[in-house]
Amino acid sequence: MEYMQAPATSSQGNILCCTCGIPIPPNPANMCVSCLRTTVDISEGIPKQVNLHFCKQCERYLQPPASWVQCALESRELLALCLKKLKGNMTKVRLIDAGFLWTEPHSKRIKLKVTIQKEVMNGAILQQVFVVEFVIQGQMCDDCHRVEAKDFWNSVT
Ligand SMILES: [Zn+2]
Ligand SMILES: [Zn+2]
Repeated sequence: MEYMQAPATSSQGNILCCTCGIPIPPNPANMCVSCLRTTVDISEGIPKQVNLHFCKQCERYLQPPASWVQCALESRELLALCLKKLKGNMTKVRLIDAGFLWTEPHSKRIKLKVTIQKEVMNGAILQQVFVVEFVIQGQMCDDCHRVEAKDFWNSVT
């Protein structure tokens, strides 16, 4: 006996999602949005661990290229500084939200929870939440360096 049923895919020009098999409009990934969400990492290319330089003499953070700013933990200023470090890697995604996660004050770690969105094929918007860890590295700023050098020369002469 001949099997006459036409495949469901050809009827409305839909294809079947290659992962879960539901009919969807064709797209380059052959995948439905919910499957895309589980396989596509839109935070790809954004560093998940970033160094932050901190001068403990004057308690300022380095804001590249060469300025030092004073900001309290979990302050807006620190948030801005952290985001600035990521900005170069976030050109292809939209920043939706960012906020600090609590970390032990002596851990020398700052954790930032970041929410991003990216439009993928057919206008589907994928949203992703991830955590970036900022590692605080001690580095003496130029000002403090100068003061220390001066003190050194004062004490030897
Ligand atoms: Zn699917
Ligand atoms: Zn300093």
